[in-house]
Amino acid sequence: MTEKSDFDSPMLRTSLAQLDQVAARLRLDPDIHERLRHPKRALVVSIPVRMDDGKTAVFTGYRVHHNSVLGPTKGGLRYDPEVSLGEVSALAMLMSWKCSLMGLPYGGAKGGVRCDPRKLSLQERENLTRRYTAEIILMIGPDLDIPAPDMGTDEQTMAWMMDTYSMTQGRTVPGVVTGKPIIIGGSAGRREATGRGIVYVLYQAARSLGQELKGRRIVVQGFGNVGAVAARLLWNDGCLIAAVSDVKGAIWNPNGLDLRQLETHVAEAGTVVGFPGADAVSHTELLSLPCDVLIPAAIGSVIHKDNADRIKATIVAEGANAPTTPEADVILRERGVTVIPDILANAGGVVVSYFEWVQGLQYYFWRESEITARLQEVMTRSFNRVWALASKEGSDLRTAALMEGVSRVAEGYKVRGLYP
Ligand code: NAD
Repeated sequence: MTEKSDFDSPMLRTSLAQLDQVAARLRLDPDIHERLRHPKRALVVSIPVRMDDGKTAVFTGYRVHHNSVLGPTKGGLRYDPEVSLGEVSALAMLMSWKCSLMGLPYGGAKGGVRCDPRKLSLQERENLTRRYTAEIILMIGPDLDIPAPDMGTDEQTMAWMMDTYSMTQGRTVPGVVTGKPIIIGGSAGRREATGRGIVYVLYQAARSLGQELKGRRIVVQGFGNVGAVAARLLWNDGCLIAAVSDVKGAIWNPNGLDLRQLETHVAEAGTVVGFPGADAVSHTELLSLPCDVLIPAAIGSVIHKDNADRIKATIVAEGANAPTTPEADVILRERGVTVIPDILANAGGVVVSYFEWVQGLQYYFWRESEITARLQEVMTRSFNRVWALASKEGSDLRTAALMEGVSRVAEGYKVRGLYP
């Protein structure tokens, strides 16, 4: 893909630069490398939606399949005002490496609709989701491409997608999406999976660094599905959650926040802002607060060249996708900060999505304890593989994780060959 491609975006340029570096290290076949640089297919759709005032608004939506060499494609659906074809393509590529790294039989995909979900009523969100699903219906299916929730979407969004798809098939097809409510075939433990996965890799990282996690000070950016769950599980384990934030603001208490009370406050106020017993800090300050572990779990590119040298944490666990820019990566590496990269740290969601898909295909459901044990096993094994490769290569964890992820996809291309 050239700089002038239709897909061009800062995030995609970063993903391509990462791929190129890893391809050089792996001495990848140049023909396979070239194929990996391009998404397999991409669809851009206009989504007319009847709004509550009776008028019609038209939104733009995307679905991109990066590659399907190892199996059907898999990836979240994002509702966000900034979403673009390039961003979705970059995220689809990251999903390829993530699924491959975790040993899942999936290729990477991603979807997005350019909208601000907080400004839409429930009815408008349902109309939008159903029409988007209808517009991309040729792209999805239980053995073709399986969406899941991401930023701005949730279990309810997946229920509407599953229902819309099922209506067109004349039968119920639970395997077309994951992250759906348990009553219609969702998996126990899916909602908590990404946050829980972060906790498992953090334990492994601390162990590998000869540190103890309990009692350490943690800062979490983003108090949504990923950040709030990770914060709560770490708090349950005796960590000190010193600061959290959401889109409206950030709060900080050096002696630690009471997560149970904070959850009640968020349920009532809809934001962490105004939580009694904590001071307000700015979004910028949050990232440079004194702490041992920083978990960015909101949006991309928040750690960049202008703030990377102010980060005090010794471990950064990337809950969000692509929260660290390549320039910041270099600065953090030089400062000895251990960055657990997104494709490893936040892979718990797709791992349990895989479990949900398998359970749905078999109509046989596992207990939460089984899901959690299997998740822990996959996260720990993947972390240890990445740690061992990084030690062998003398590289950072991101490079090692990408090497693992890219090499399996490349091997798939190699054995399958090029059609015709
Ligand atoms: P979410 O919508 O549930 O929560 C996002 C949180 O980030 C909210 O608290 C929101 O207020 C906050 N936020 C948004 N913009 C912000 C900003 N500029 N500054 C501070 N906070 C901000 O989304 P989520 O599912 O928790 O996803 C968060 C991140 O994790 C995304 O990058 C997503 O791609 C990634 N991720 C999610 C999953 C999953 O299973 N949900 C899996 C892998 C990766």
